[in-house]
Amino acid sequence: MPRPHHRLNLYLVSKDTDRSPTEEEWELSLQQMVESGAVDERGWAGPRAESLLPGGFQRLRADRPPNRAVFGNRTGGNRVRCPYCVAPLAKTFSRAAEVWRRGGDGAMKCDSCGRSVGLNEVAADPPLAVGRFAVEIRDVNTTELTEEGCTLFQSALGGDFHVIPSRG
Ligand SMILES: [Zn+2]
Repeated sequence: MPRPHHRLNLYLVSKDTDRSPTEEEWELSLQQMVESGAVDERGWAGPRAESLLPGGFQRLRADRPPNRAVFGNRTGGNRVRCPYCVAPLAKTFSRAAEVWRRGGDGAMKCDSCGRSVGLNEVAADPPLAVGRFAVEIRDVNTTELTEEGCTLFQSALGGDFHVIPSRG
């Protein structure tokens, strides 16, 4: 079977930039997915993979980068805008994200309207999110999780999360 050139992967990233489940917490979530038949012990799609994501997926895994990271497409630039006044914010964002990656707080203010904007509040196209942890879901057909998937990953990530598509 010929496969499409660029696979679509998803990163599920907590909206809270510093939230990261412990190994133990992630194991519990994974176990829950194994028991429901969504994945096997190593995260490969199981018979009920579509209960999380319509069309299923190949595999899911915890992505725990050694340092704070930016999740999203690596190729090309992202248009980043203020969520309040829609002014372009790319440079301010990259500076603040770099400070945050090195251990700072990453606080930033919009150059245009002066409001405080959280790193994971910006409107980015293509979407991106910063974090310490992501659930990586490989080879998907859609970016829309099922209701069951939303509930499960909210519990796995400890709250609301961004769904960041990534090609390649
Ligand atoms: Zn603004």
